[in-house]
Amino acid sequence: MNPDVLHDLALLRDLGYTHLDLSAPSRLAMPEPLAAAPASSGLSPWDALVAETHNCNACRLAGTRTNVVFGVGNPNADLMFIGEAPGRDEDLQGEPFVGRAGQLLTDIIKAMKLTRDDVYIANVIKCRPPENRNPEPDELDECRPFLRRQVELIQPKVIVTLGRFGLQSLTEKGYSISAVRGQWLDYNGIKLMPTYHPAYLLRNPAAKKDVWSDMKKVMAELGIAV
Ligand code: URA
Repeated sequence: MNPDVLHDLALLRDLGYTHLDLSAPSRLAMPEPLAAAPASSGLSPWDALVAETHNCNACRLAGTRTNVVFGVGNPNADLMFIGEAPGRDEDLQGEPFVGRAGQLLTDIIKAMKLTRDDVYIANVIKCRPPENRNPEPDELDECRPFLRRQVELIQPKVIVTLGRFGLQSLTEKGYSISAVRGQWLDYNGIKLMPTYHPAYLLRNPAAKKDVWSDMKKVMAELGIAV
C-alpha cells in the first residue's frame, strides 16, 4: 500500500477511528470524545495530543522513523500497558507490540480474558530507536510528556509497565525491575504493576509464571475472575 495512505490510516487509528464505512455518506465512525474540545483549537485534548505527537521533531528519532507509534486500543480503558519503544514491525505499521513480543503480549491479554481493544497499549518512546538500541536519556525526556498526557486523558484504573524503561521513565524513579516486579506501586493515584517485558520472556520463558502471577493481581484489582 502507498506509504502516504498507510501514514494517514495510522493517524486516523490514533485519533480513535475504528473502521471506515465506505457505504455510508459519512465514511468515518467517530469515537466517543474523551473530553470537551478546547474552544481555541477545535480539537479534543486527545486529538490535540495525537496531532502534536505525530508532528514531533524534538529528538533525533524523528529523522529515522517511518511512523510515529502513538498507541492503540481503547482510550477509555481501565487497563493500560506501557512498553519501551517501537521495533521494526511497529515502526512500519505505526502500531505498538505487533512483532513477536507483541504476539506474546496479545496472548497475555487474552489469558486475562480481555482483548487488545479492551485495553490501551503505548510505549514510553513513540519513535523507533535505530537498530532497536536502548532509548537515550534525552529521548526519554522529550517523549515522557506525551506518555504522561496519554495517562492523564485515559485515566486507567491500573497501569502495567513492561520492563525497566516503562517503569523508570514514567515514574522518573530508578527502580530495579527485579526488586519491585509484582508489587503494587503508585503513579499519581493510579495503581501501577511493574512486570517483565514480553521480549525478556521470549529469552527467558521460565519467567512467564512470574508475569502470570502479576497479571492475576491485576485481574483481581479490575474485578476479573481468575
Ligand atoms: N517492544 C516494546 O517495548 N514496544 C513495542 O511496541 C514493541 C516491542
